[in-house]
Amino acid sequence: NRYITIKNHVNGAPQESDFELKSSPLSLSLDPDSDEVIVQNLYVSIDPYQLNRMKSYSSSQERSTYAVAFTPGEAIDTYGVGKVVASGNPKFEKGDIVAGLLHWGEFTVVKPGGMLNKLDPMGFPLSYHVGILGFSGLTAYAGFYEICKPKKGEKVFVSAALGSVGNLVGQFAKALGCYVVGSAGSKEKVALLKEKLGFDDAFNYREETDLNSTIKRYFPDGIDIYFDNVGGDMQAAAVSNMNINGRVAVCGVISEYTDGKKRAAPDMMDIIYKRIKMQGFLSGDYFNLFGDFLSTTCDHLWSGKIQPLEDISDGVESIPSAFFNLFRGQNIGKKMVKVAQH
Ligand code: NDP
Repeated sequence: NRYITIKNHVNGAPQESDFELKSSPLSLSLDPDSDEVIVQNLYVSIDPYQLNRMKSYSSSQERSTYAVAFTPGEAIDTYGVGKVVASGNPKFEKGDIVAGLLHWGEFTVVKPGGMLNKLDPMGFPLSYHVGILGFSGLTAYAGFYEICKPKKGEKVFVSAALGSVGNLVGQFAKALGCYVVGSAGSKEKVALLKEKLGFDDAFNYREETDLNSTIKRYFPDGIDIYFDNVGGDMQAAAVSNMNINGRVAVCGVISEYTDGKKRAAPDMMDIIYKRIKMQGFLSGDYFNLFGDFLSTTCDHLWSGKIQPLEDISDGVESIPSAFFNLFRGQNIGKKMVKVAQH
């Protein structure tokens, strides 16, 4: 079983040399009462938050994070889709297609109580169940509908808008009849947002020197909803352009993951006088919405109102570059690695 691990904790921007491809023998014979399941990984997710689990923390910091830090040398957890190749758990049998918490590697031995569910692909490619119909999709759905409580016609701003979560938030917002502007890190991405995904407008934040006035240019009448994937200066600039009763879903702050320096922060007077609601959230708290999320998203997919945007690399060896390139803006849509052919 070949798998990817970190050599040491990673503090700062991740690079190729932080990772290592390891190999360990794997026996496919399981005690029938072990409750363990061996899964051949097919598609594994590549997510920015994994960097936060690669850092070294003091014990007090670790308590305030939502997941424990990875141990150098050990396999890295990730969401993914796979196929059962051996089962000591009566709920699964060889050949089942499953989704759950797997590893960045070729196989995962899922221990008793591990997160694993049988997957009904519903006629969609398996990769969709890692991205648009998986956790990224649920994040976009819960953050947009539950946290932002959008109404038709409202003005929505999304950052990292061509990323996995961002592109879907924008597409949900367009499907609802909102006015949607996205920010992204290149001219090509801006063109895709407008021409392929139907965003009303988009801009390349790397070309802008004053984000506050840039956002004002795109939202002369203010923002009703800001879906924040990046934090930092963009968050401060977006909040200062919010309308009264605006909502900010703080989904992620990727600009701060690689750089611990104190950044610009939103102006609290704006938050008070404009009665802005700003809320962080974790998609894992919204499993109760999974059924609603799946039926809404599948309906939109079948009707062609939204489209999947996937960025798939091949082979376990490509996991490190797939990952560190997230922090260089190299991905377009949901980044994942196809580890094996179904
Ligand atoms: P993306 O597919 O959006 O990939 C990351 C993107 O972030 C890159 O493509 C890049 O695009 C942008 N980016 C990278 N570095 C910076 C930077 N320094 N400043 C601004 N933008 C940057 O990832 P996801 O869709 O998976 O995740 C988006 C955000 O949502 C992340 O912050 C993530 O941690 C968070 N998240 C939160 C969840 C939750 O439950 N709260 C669940 C899943 C994700 P560009 O070209 O635009 O720079």
